[in-house]
Amino acid sequence: MADHDVSEPAEGDALATRLIHHAYRAPADWDAIPPGVFKASTVFFPNVQALRERRWIDKSAYTYGLKGTPTTYTLEARLAELEGAEHVMLLPSGLAAITLVDLALLKAGDEVALPDNVYGPNLALAQHELRGWGIGHQMYDPLDVASLAQALTPATKLVWLEAAGSVTMEFPDLRGLVRCVRERAPQALIAIDHTWGAGLAFKPFDLGNGTGEGQAVDIAVHALTKFPSGGGDVLMGSVACRDRALHERLCWTHSRLGFGVGADDAAAILRGLPTMELRYRTQDQAARRIAAWALTRGEFSRVLHPALPGSPGHEHWAAHCELAAGLLTLEMQPRYGSAQVDAFIDALRLFRIGWSWAGPVSLVAPYEARRMRQLPTPYQGTLVRLCIGLEDVGDLIRDLERALAVLPA
Ligand SMILES: *Cc1c(COP(=O)(O)O)cnc(C)c1O
Repeated sequence: MADHDVSEPAEGDALATRLIHHAYRAPADWDAIPPGVFKASTVFFPNVQALRERRWIDKSAYTYGLKGTPTTYTLEARLAELEGAEHVMLLPSGLAAITLVDLALLKAGDEVALPDNVYGPNLALAQHELRGWGIGHQMYDPLDVASLAQALTPATKLVWLEAAGSVTMEFPDLRGLVRCVRERAPQALIAIDHTWGAGLAFKPFDLGNGTGEGQAVDIAVHALTKFPSGGGDVLMGSVACRDRALHERLCWTHSRLGFGVGADDAAAILRGLPTMELRYRTQDQAARRIAAWALTRGEFSRVLHPALPGSPGHEHWAAHCELAAGLLTLEMQPRYGSAQVDAFIDALRLFRIGWSWAGPVSLVAPYEARRMRQLPTPYQGTLVRLCIGLEDVGDLIRDLERALAVLPA
C-alpha cells in the first residue's frame, strides 16, 4: 500500500499542477519560539484505512481543520496548563464557550442556576434561547449560599459561578457554593466563568468544596479575548475540564455545532500567553492604586474592587486569592444624573469608551445596576467600570481627576 504523504510532480505536469503538487515537506529540524501557524480545512490521510481508523476526539491525530491543527492542539495544551485542567477546547468567543456548555448539558425540562451578577450575555442566553427551548433558569444571590440552596431544584442540571461577578465585582464564597450544589443537587454540574481569575488569581479545579472530598468545579470557561490575548485584537474562548467523559460529551456537541477557530487567531493567543502573568500583575497593581485614590474622592458612593476591604465579598477574595484582575467599578453619588455621569466619561482622554478588557488601553463604560439585576440590588448611582490598561498609572489618575472637574461641586 503506497503512502501519499508527499505529493510528487510527475513529468509532463503543467505549471499549475507543479505549483500545487510540489515536493514540500514541513521542516522537521525547524525550532523557534512561535509554535507555527498551521492552516487547513482538508488534512490528508496516507491511505483509506487511516481515514477509516483515525480518531479526532483524543487529539492523537488530525482529521479535519475544524477538529484541530498543530496550532490549536498546542494552544489547548498550554491552556490546560494555565487552567489546571486535563482537557481544553477552543471556541470563537468567550460567549460561544458559555453557549457550548449550556447546549451540551441542558435539555428541555432542565434548569440552570445563574448568579445575579452573571456576565450579562450568559443571562440573555437563558432568558431568550434557553427559555424558548424549554430550559428554565433560576437566579441566586452570589453572596448568600442559602439563596443558591433555594434556587436548586431536582431539574437543576447546571450551576454557573462567577468570581468576581460582572460589573459589581462581588467575590462569592466559592467553596460554600460548591458544597451546597454537591449536597443538594448532586445531579448538577458546576461551571465557572473563569475570565476574571484567568488561571492566575485562583485555581477553580483545586478549590476543594470544604468537605475535603471531590472536585470543586467541573468546567472552567475562559474568555481568551481578555488576558490570554492581551492585545484587544482577538476573540476566542475555551472550555476546560478534568473529567475525560465530560470532555468527550462537550466535544461531541462542539463538533456537531461546527465551532472552530482560525489558526492566526490561535497563534495570537499563543503569543499573548508568555506575557500574561506580567500583564495581569501590572494591571492588578495599577487598579489597586486607582481604587485607593478613588476612596479619597467625594464623587463616589462606593468603590467596588474585591481586594479592597469593605468591598462585597472581600473576605472570600482574601481566602481564595492574592491577585486580582485590573478592574474596578465606581458607584457615582446618586446626586449625579446620568447626563452628568456621561459628561464625566466623555471628558476622559486616556480611558477609551468601549467593551472588553485586559488589553493595553484603559477602558470605561457606564452601567445601571437596577436594569441588570433580577434580584434587589443596593446600588443606586450609575456604575462606572474601569478596566485598567498598561498606561502609566499616574497619568490615568490625572486623567480621572481632570475629567471629574466637569461635575458640579
Ligand atoms: C468578555 C467576557 C466574556 C465573553 O467573551 P467574548 O470573547 O467577548 O465573547 C465572558 N465572560 C466574561 C466574564 C467576560 O468578561
